[in-house]
Amino acid sequence: MPLASLAKVEQNSCYWVVRSYSNTNGGLLKVRIDLEICQGQGRCFSIAPSIFDFDDLGNGVVIGDGTLNTDTLALAQLAQANCPEHAIFIEE
Ligand code: SF4
Repeated sequence: MPLASLAKVEQNSCYWVVRSYSNTNGGLLKVRIDLEICQGQGRCFSIAPSIFDFDDLGNGVVIGDGTLNTDTLALAQLAQANCPEHAIFIEE
């Protein structure tokens, strides 16, 4: 089961916020952006500039190979929950 489906998110006044998350099988998790879906709204690199950057067209890109650790997982999930295009995927 993808981790993203395990995240519990709730809507704050302006953003969706991650309230809890878990990784049931301890597998390596990576974040990626589907550039066919991304429309360059910029929330990902505003929320998590240590994980996401933007390309010459203003679309979001993942910094490095996208591997997440316990520190970056929640931040990546927060960006995922706030992507208006649902272009961010967290997968094993
Ligand atoms: S928040 Fe979503 S749509 Fe906006 S740049 Fe990031 S991936 Fe693309």
